[in-house]
Amino acid sequence: MKKKTTVYEDEEAKRQKYAEEHIVECPHCGEGVFDHMKTCPHCGGKLDPKGYNPLTDKQIKKIKTVTWIVGMVIAVTVVILYFALWKK
Ligand SMILES: [Zn+2]
Repeated sequence: MKKKTTVYEDEEAKRQKYAEEHIVECPHCGEGVFDHMKTCPHCGGKLDPKGYNPLTDKQIKKIKTVTWIVGMVIAVTVVILYFALWKK
């Protein structure tokens, strides 16, 4: 019971720390908003998200290629393992 409470408090502290680090003042209404938000939830004003990093087409293509290669390697490994075990 005591351990559970400690874990919960740690999570809460972590969340609070995150919030403190990432909350910025809205330039339109002065309310606290997260720095990754594109629009202010309080006044609907447009924000300049510094924490927000949209992926470029080039990055998406790169991720897709890497995912494909990783998938192929896993597939080949599975096939090799299957035949290695099957031969036994
Ligand atoms: Zn605002």
